[in-house]
Amino acid sequence: MRLVLLGPPGAGKGTQATRIAKRFAVPQLSTGDMLREAVASGSALGARVKDIMERGDLVPDDVVIAVVADRMDHSDAANGFVLDGFPRTVAQAEALDRELAARGIGLNAVLELEVDEHVLLVRIKGRAEEAGKKGQPVRRDDNPEVFKTRLKAYRALTAPVTEYYRSQGLLHIVDGLQSIDVVTEELAEVLSAFA
Ligand code: AMP
Repeated sequence: MRLVLLGPPGAGKGTQATRIAKRFAVPQLSTGDMLREAVASGSALGARVKDIMERGDLVPDDVVIAVVADRMDHSDAANGFVLDGFPRTVAQAEALDRELAARGIGLNAVLELEVDEHVLLVRIKGRAEEAGKKGQPVRRDDNPEVFKTRLKAYRALTAPVTEYYRSQGLLHIVDGLQSIDVVTEELAEVLSAFA
């Protein structure tokens, strides 16, 4: 099962990708997590992307494409994966198609979580507060100002990715404003056709 999960920041992509990956026994490949790990480890990659991420801008395409292409070749991804947070530009989507074609594989489906933008800002504030309450680290880019930049990047660069996949007949849209469990069930139902 090879999937892409799309949706604006704060739509619940990470949560749903974790659940879907578990259910279909494939790894969740989150570019945000991979890049945050690189920053935390102090690697050269981390140093290159740290400021960009803190501003809420997108990391250059060639950087994330290389990260994903490398990660797809790990043995745990041999039977599939859930891509979470990638592709975020049409150039990334095209590069992904090339990387998959070079390996003789393709995507089964692209799932998009549709969420009203006004709700997103409320969610992002809640996410920061909740993490703070639990004593968990609050993401530096989970604050209203940076969030607006992330949303702007989404509108300008990532929204066209939806059309890219629609034209390939791969797109399935699920209402991301429903409860977490209902969203998971609706995603799983779409995917049952491919399992
Ligand atoms: P996320 O956890 O998916 O919200 O990603 C957090 C941040 O990592 C984003 O705001 C970007 O700065 C960077 N990032 C993650 N995935 C990508 C991607 N596919 N392309 C460019 N930048 C990315």
